[in-house]
Amino acid sequence: MKICRFNDARLGVVKGESVFDVSEALDALRPASYPFPRHDVLIENLPLMRARLEELSARASPIALGSVRLLSPVANPGKIVAAPVNYTRHLEEVLAQKQLHHGNLINEIHKAGLFLKATSSLVGASSPVTLVHTDRRNDHEVELAVVIGQRCRNVHRDQALRHVAGYAIGLDITIRGPEERSLRKSPDSYTVLGPWLTTSDELTDPGQLDFSIHVDGELRQQANTSELILGVPELIEFASSFYTLEPGDIILTGTPQGVGPIVPGNRMLAAIQGIGSMEVAVQ
Ligand code: MN
Repeated sequence: MKICRFNDARLGVVKGESVFDVSEALDALRPASYPFPRHDVLIENLPLMRARLEELSARASPIALGSVRLLSPVANPGKIVAAPVNYTRHLEEVLAQKQLHHGNLINEIHKAGLFLKATSSLVGASSPVTLVHTDRRNDHEVELAVVIGQRCRNVHRDQALRHVAGYAIGLDITIRGPEERSLRKSPDSYTVLGPWLTTSDELTDPGQLDFSIHVDGELRQQANTSELILGVPELIEFASSFYTLEPGDIILTGTPQGVGPIVPGNRMLAAIQGIGSMEVAVQ
């Protein structure tokens, strides 16, 4: 199932080129009181809501996908975990180019570990990426994004995929420079998640997905998730050995070779096999 959030926080099921409004299903979420949960309650409750989503989408009227404004399929992630250098050929290109590494010590993921992006950087596919510090190089990074479905800690890789709610396309927009990654990758709109969540029952093997990004029609990055150094199960094992993963937490799995600059006016077209595609404006 492909689940989206659209327009004024409506909940939708996507089938082909249509969205079916299933917002009534949100009534199942218990009203929260202060202090509010620090995880995403929709993602937490998706398994319980599943039958209702099927039923509501079967009798809703289709809305043209092109006519809706897509929001991030996760409204309130507790954290956005990201893998820095998780494709060998991307590591090689970073080491080879001073304008990418800026003298920072660059190691592959086993040594570099993971980093966090601010949750305030998150937008959906229909929101433009608004660049800041445009005197500096801003780059696109296309990545497979994993959305955690259940609270977990110290998960073994063999059990890891059980804890996944689904997958989306992630854009990890980055200002190049010498500062910490968390700063350079966390301005508002620098994390794009979309166009929807493809649930893990529909996408059972995240380790064999072709994906790509074009900028203004030019192919910039193209790879397959089989080339990941740490695949999705290993990333969940690694991340969950440091912190509890909560429903709605997002893991950006890392970007392959081909990162390149974007400037206001560009249009990015990102696609991942089994999920779909999204076109995102840069301003
Ligand atoms: Mn990245």
